[in-house]
Amino acid sequence: LLSSLVKHEKLETVSNFAASVSHELRNPIQSIKGFVQLMKEHEYSRDKQLEFYDTMLSEIKAADQLIEDYLVFAKPVFAKLETVSVKTEVEHVVKVLKPFASWQKVEIQLLKNGGDAHILADRQKFHQALINIIRNGIEAMPAGGTFKIQIKQSASKVAIILMDEGIGMSKEEVQRLGEPYFSTKSKGTGLGMMVAYSIVRQMNGEIGVHSEKGKGTVFNVEFPLV
Ligand code: ADP
Ligand code: MG
Repeated sequence: LLSSLVKHEKLETVSNFAASVSHELRNPIQSIKGFVQLMKEHEYSRDKQLEFYDTMLSEIKAADQLIEDYLVFAKPVFAKLETVSVKTEVEHVVKVLKPFASWQKVEIQLLKNGGDAHILADRQKFHQALINIIRNGIEAMPAGGTFKIQIKQSASKVAIILMDEGIGMSKEEVQRLGEPYFSTKSKGTGLGMMVAYSIVRQMNGEIGVHSEKGKGTVFNVEFPLV
């Protein structure tokens, strides 16, 4: 059911990204700077001011999003690999995303499962990969819904299955997942999935995707057990 999708060729570009992202950050910062200067030099009507504030807020949001999606590359090397419990780390990520989810009227369900699989991970980066995938799932449900997470352990592997009931993707969109700057969102960075693929690959994991337009998307993130 889950078609495996590995992005090798596109990840080669990742190392050049620090420069590219700082360049991207300059756009919103320059724009905010411009508005502040304008408002310092002229007396604007309240309506005009409010319009400027809204634009500035949305530029700040864009910069913030870029930093959030990309945070992980601030430290390009995997700090320390340690043995972590998948369940514990997933629970942590769910807690972190709760406020964002409830704001979007999405309930995150962590389906009960007996096992306690352990994998080798850089904790922070593992969180970042999961957060980037789950955040997309939540964003794919503009009218709210349920986001389900299941942890499945087999003899040598553990799979984290992340399921949304959102807008889904076409075949072409699934193909382009992980491509730098590929985004269908008006204020998207198109970096979240690239970062997620890169981290999972560095952890010797794999990501499989199954998506249906109008139905939802399932991400299957697999890692070798310790
Ligand atoms: P961004 O979220 O900033 O657009 P990402 O790299 O996180 O960038 O995602 C790239 C694109 O992949 C999104 O714009 C969206 O089109 C698509 N996508 C990713 N996850 C999902 C999902 N769960 N449901 C629908 N589309 C998705
Ligand atoms: Mg995203």
